Amino acid sequence: MKPAQRKHFDVIIVGAGPAGLRCAEILSPSGLKVLLLEKKQHIGQRICAGGVTRKFFKIYDFPPELIEKTTNHTLLTSSRRHFNIHAGEDFLFTLNREILGQWQLARINRENVEIQTGRQVTRIEKDFVEVDRTKTFGYNFLVGADGPSSLVRRYLKIPARHYIMAIQYKIPCRKNDVPFEVVLNANYFHTGYAWVFPHKDYLSVGCGVDPHHLSPQKMKANFHRWVKEKGFDISQAAYESFPILYDYQGFRFNNIFLAGEAAGLTFGLSGEGIYTALVSGEEIARFILNPAHPEQNMQALLHHKRLQDRFLRLLHVAGPLRQPLFNFILHLMDNKTFCRKVIHGFSG
Ligand SMILES: Cc1cc2nc3c(=O)[nH]c(=O)nc-3n(C[C@H](O)[C@H](O)[C@H](O)COP(=O)(O)OP(=O)(O)OC[C@H]3O[C@@H](n4cnc5c(N)ncnc54)[C@H](O)[C@@H]3O)c2cc1C
Repeated sequence: MKPAQRKHFDVIIVGAGPAGLRCAEILSPSGLKVLLLEKKQHIGQRICAGGVTRKFFKIYDFPPELIEKTTNHTLLTSSRRHFNIHAGEDFLFTLNREILGQWQLARINRENVEIQTGRQVTRIEKDFVEVDRTKTFGYNFLVGADGPSSLVRRYLKIPARHYIMAIQYKIPCRKNDVPFEVVLNANYFHTGYAWVFPHKDYLSVGCGVDPHHLSPQKMKANFHRWVKEKGFDISQAAYESFPILYDYQGFRFNNIFLAGEAAGLTFGLSGEGIYTALVSGEEIARFILNPAHPEQNMQALLHHKRLQDRFLRLLHVAGPLRQPLFNFILHLMDNKTFCRKVIHGFSG
């Protein structure tokens, strides 16, 4: 298609996950012409455990009736110890990703934002994108919010080196008394961890492990061993797996931005990516609207990420001391001040 015939947008956002939807929401009242492209037919579906912490509610006044489960205590388990983290108020919540996506979608003013689903971006050039190998659309700004296998990131030639492989089962369960649980067991999960996150009608039971340290086969075998030991019945459960990219190398590249997991902004230790996607999606929209927009929110996010990624590196080099370190951390949790700091550090 000749450039003169091509439809042109001020901003094209690739990907309607939390980052792309938040970016579109902030841009929508601005008068800029925005195109949001999503390859899936339906917005919101995503392999995810759906866990968020208090930080999430600093961004969104999310209706309490849409929260799946909430807790003020979580079982923290290592190979030798159990510790029940208890806080005065709820600090861990689960959400249904489809409900979150549809809720975010409803907040976008559609007058200025065109949303096309079932449309995959197949090629990127410096001033246009190609969709489904047929149509092209021109842009002034491009936002890559297209997740861990980001095409926009590949166009920018930014390698994706550090990632976690995450697997989970969604186990049908309507019981109300299954606790949230986080398991730090280096014998099974190396520097990663396993989780049990209760939802309304299922449990997300999964683990995340760096594939550079444990092969996918070994990781799967260890996970299944652990699942069996815990007594979970996975005969009716859906198995899912997906990478989590946490290799951050910048978010602004002239008129092209990377948001959320496409930028590798996920926290390396906790794998928390919903919150980081929302913050970066919002901040990128604000940088597009005002190039002098202060960087403090983005810097605060990066500071938190650096702390988590540094601790993860420490775990990588700890070798045989890794498990004693996990046990020691659980021992320290007996100290109220330490425990409060950990909850505050992770949950906000
Ligand atoms: C098993 C597992 C459990 C997890 N658990 C949690 C958790 O409990 N809490 C948490 O905070 N995070 C969790 N995460 C991480 C979290 O899901 C992601 O970090 C988060 O979804 C990132 O949001 P995003 O908007 O950046 O990208 P995504 O949610 O990945 O959205 C990207 C969107 O872009 C679309 N897309 C991709 N390529 C194209 C293209 N070429 N053209 C058009 N569209 C495209 C995709 O279809 C997708 O909808 C988990 C991840 C996994 C794998």
